[in-house]
Amino acid sequence: MGVPLLDLKRQYQPLREEIRAAVDRVCDEQRFILGPEVEAFEREAAEALAVEGAVGVSSGTDALLIALMALGVGRGDEVILPVFTFFATAGAVARLGARPVLVDIDPVDFCLDIGDVAGQLTPCTRAILPVHLFGQAADMEALAQAAGEIPIVEDAAQAWGASYHGRPVGGLGRMGAFSFFPSKNLGGFGDGGLVTTNDGDLEALLRQLRMHGQSGTYEHARVGGNFRLDALQAAVLRIKMRHVNSWIEGRRANAARYAELFAQAGLDGELVLPVAVEGRGHTFNQYVVRVRRRDELRAYLAERGVGAAVYYPLPLHLQPCFRDLGYGEGDFPVAEQASREVLALPVFPEMTPAEQEEVVGTIAAFFGR
Ligand SMILES: *Cc1c(COP(=O)(O)O)cnc(C)c1O
Repeated sequence: MGVPLLDLKRQYQPLREEIRAAVDRVCDEQRFILGPEVEAFEREAAEALAVEGAVGVSSGTDALLIALMALGVGRGDEVILPVFTFFATAGAVARLGARPVLVDIDPVDFCLDIGDVAGQLTPCTRAILPVHLFGQAADMEALAQAAGEIPIVEDAAQAWGASYHGRPVGGLGRMGAFSFFPSKNLGGFGDGGLVTTNDGDLEALLRQLRMHGQSGTYEHARVGGNFRLDALQAAVLRIKMRHVNSWIEGRRANAARYAELFAQAGLDGELVLPVAVEGRGHTFNQYVVRVRRRDELRAYLAERGVGAAVYYPLPLHLQPCFRDLGYGEGDFPVAEQASREVLALPVFPEMTPAEQEEVVGTIAAFFGR
């Protein structure tokens, strides 16, 4: 039968008419750059995330970049971030000429190890960039204590709807960066992103930076870029946003069912299942298990049509482009072990119980159960 890792067609089908009507509305208006759709989306997103300001941008990557630009991060500065994340977290820092200072991860939540942060603070530290990896909030209270006055920018690209002791991510630090890449829990029909903040001055600066730093008509107070969210994406996202909480509930229900099925199959000894830490509002953008014979299992699943993926096979310190940072193999043992063991399994909300049983049954067969 086979089970895809993600099937967005199933999400689109029931929303098809509504989304096409919204796209038509934008086409009829012919206002594609910012305008009323983007403004409405920003208002609705700010409300959903319980923040004062939300600025739509061109991607999650650009959300990180523009947030760091707003803090004035540049040459000679250092930004602390976890070594185990999607490349963009570090790429944004490096593109501004600053140095990504890497810390290892916590083996349970896969987020940055807060205990390692204090030792990396220097007079050059300009920001800390925690990642709410796989859709679960990092330990923000502990991080705030370690950070002191250093601004925190949340990489919430995978974590729309996650929360920390009841407070949504994106409003916990100085700024939050979200992505609407199609595979995220709230995904657009292409690239898109959002920066959130409760600081009105920063919000104004972000709005300026996303329009080439424009301060008046063809007058530029600073050098920004073209980091705008398209009206078409905003129109689609406004509709999807109304459903995202129920999709997240579906993901949580699937994660709970996996836990039952894996236990029933006697696989709890072979797999380390993801931990939804109390008070961290895991949204299961990815359902990531650890397993020792990961590559063999992955190949076995692929042969039988069961989708699975590795996020991430190569930690940042071993990326060819970061060789000159001077890190080496063995510097971040927890992340290195994770990169050898992690495997993301299908958890999308529309998957059926039969499909979940097939995933578990195929893994059971691999282990001879
Ligand atoms: C997806 C992602 C990004 C980048 O978002 P894009 O919209 O693809 O540019 C950044 N950080 C993390 C952790 C991500 O998962």
